[in-house]
Amino acid sequence: MTYQAPVREMQFYLNAVLGATRLAGTERFAEATPDMTEAILAEAGRMSEEVLAPLNRAGDEHPARLENGVVRTSPGFIDGYRAIAEGGWVGMAADPEHGGLGLPMVLTACVNEMMSSSCLALSLNPLMTQGQIEALEHHASEALQTLYLPKLISGEWTGTMNLTEPQAGSDVGALRSKAEPKGDGTYRVSGQKIYISWGDHDMAENVCHLVLARLPDGVPGTKGISLFLVPKYLPTEEGKPGVANSLKVISLEHKMGLHGSPTAVMEYDGATGWLVGPPHGGMAAMFTMMNNARLGVGVQGLAQAEAAYQKALAYALERKQGRVPVEGGTGTILDHADVRRMLMTMKALTSAVRAICLDTAFSLDMARATEGDEAARWAARGAFLTPIAKGFGTDMGCHVAELGVQVHGGMGFIEETGAAQFYRDVRVTAIYEGTNGIQAMDLVARKLMDGGVAAREMLAEIAATAASDAVLGKDLDAAKDALSETLDWMLAAPELNARFAGAGPFLRAFGLTLGGHYLLKAALAEGDANRMALARFMIRQLLPQVSALCAAAREGADDLYALDADALAS
Ligand SMILES: Cc1cc2nc3c(=O)[nH]c(=O)nc-3n(C[C@H](O)[C@H](O)[C@H](O)COP(=O)(O)OP(=O)(O)OC[C@H]3O[C@@H](n4cnc5c(N)ncnc54)[C@H](O)[C@@H]3O)c2cc1C
Repeated sequence: MTYQAPVREMQFYLNAVLGATRLAGTERFAEATPDMTEAILAEAGRMSEEVLAPLNRAGDEHPARLENGVVRTSPGFIDGYRAIAEGGWVGMAADPEHGGLGLPMVLTACVNEMMSSSCLALSLNPLMTQGQIEALEHHASEALQTLYLPKLISGEWTGTMNLTEPQAGSDVGALRSKAEPKGDGTYRVSGQKIYISWGDHDMAENVCHLVLARLPDGVPGTKGISLFLVPKYLPTEEGKPGVANSLKVISLEHKMGLHGSPTAVMEYDGATGWLVGPPHGGMAAMFTMMNNARLGVGVQGLAQAEAAYQKALAYALERKQGRVPVEGGTGTILDHADVRRMLMTMKALTSAVRAICLDTAFSLDMARATEGDEAARWAARGAFLTPIAKGFGTDMGCHVAELGVQVHGGMGFIEETGAAQFYRDVRVTAIYEGTNGIQAMDLVARKLMDGGVAAREMLAEIAATAASDAVLGKDLDAAKDALSETLDWMLAAPELNARFAGAGPFLRAFGLTLGGHYLLKAALAEGDANRMALARFMIRQLLPQVSALCAAAREGADDLYALDADALAS
């Protein structure tokens, strides 16, 4: 079965569950009416189904390759990319001043979900560019904005993000790349960067790298890092790609999945670059890009979950095996209780992650569309939800794709079905853009620096949903209470490492509880028996994990350090 874009489901969540129609009531997003939204999603859905989905296998079977210093992309990717660029999908959220459509991020999230479900490897390219556009809009000089933004927004040029070095992964502050002023306003950037997604390719005429490097007077650690824009070809006065810059791809990685996305080792050898943001202000500027990308990667997890679910359901409806144990069933493996459990889990978690990701994007949109205290509240809500969208979204993407393999039985292990590709492709989403361990630490440290205000506001929203249903409300409320108790424990914990020890379980518990909250809201909004059945499954069968996860989260770090390195090895 081929991918079918869940356009109506997205619209339902936007309009009936999240109340995203409020965006059209703001001056900034007045154009984002339900009609406009419907037209945009339908068009992106059509492109994803018809143009991008057919490329997914080719990307897996014929990875991008390095030929004489030039990266050649997988068959069909050039045409697929052209459809994305010409459709205006790269710059849909960008500022209209430079050619963007100025649409809400929540719509970009929907479109990115569909592009990522159909071809994750290719869709990673515009995701990187979107992050770069946002970083330049916020931090670049006017001259850089005028030159680069129209090209990036139109998709004529693409963007990358260069943080990682061999000794500097999660610890970005350990990076060694250098930048020296040339005296003419530009800088000479040198160093090696690894794992650079879409570091080079043949789909666009220029590739623009945002590179973190240290100025000569930059102090060690993150405080001494600056951000530079380093294009593959130096733009001419007319804004055309000119002479080649001193940078190259040394090699491409051989990966577990995501084969269609070239992952490059890059060498910058005195390449000409322009400073973005103030000297030594690189981390702040890069964070703009990373927060956008973190939500974007959460959406990638969602996208692979949706695609894996669709494929698994189609297979389950065809495969006959064993005695049919229920009356009036389909006569296929769908009738088996264990297969049902897998598919219900996949469906519930996919819906939960969609709601979390869209609510995150919606909050960030409202923060941009409102002012003063109201804007600050929305921004805090979006910031709190971001690590959950990334961490829970991609963990569940991996889990759902793994269940998708299992539903297929032996055929899941055979590449032809495509179930295995989702499993391999999605795995990296829990690793890049800050590993999920780092996301969880962000949630319990940085995101609780407000004393737990944003967390408590989310818990109050969950409590309100629980209060509106007499049947399932009690169970949802119990999960909320476990979270609340754990939140108090986290805030009172004497040592940060005690919080970190419980960070992963806490993030998982929060994600699951939010899932129950959104699915119940969805059921109540529509008064629909099927939606209520799904909410019931989520709350009665998945939320019981919350109290166990919270209990583990409150245990502190001692057990984790009880075995020393020798004992671990014995
Ligand atoms: C396919 C792919 C594409 C990528 N694309 C890009 C890209 O475009 N640009 C870019 O700059 N980078 C990119 N990356 C790099 C990616 O962001 C890093 O791999 C990631 O941040 C983890 O860094 P690391 O690999 O060095 O792992 P490490 O940092 O060595 O982590 C190893 C383990 O230790 C844990 N750990 C590390 N530090 C801590 C800590 N302080 N507390 C708790 N746990 C910790 C991690 O969670 C992890 O489980 C990509 C990676 C891959 C695989």
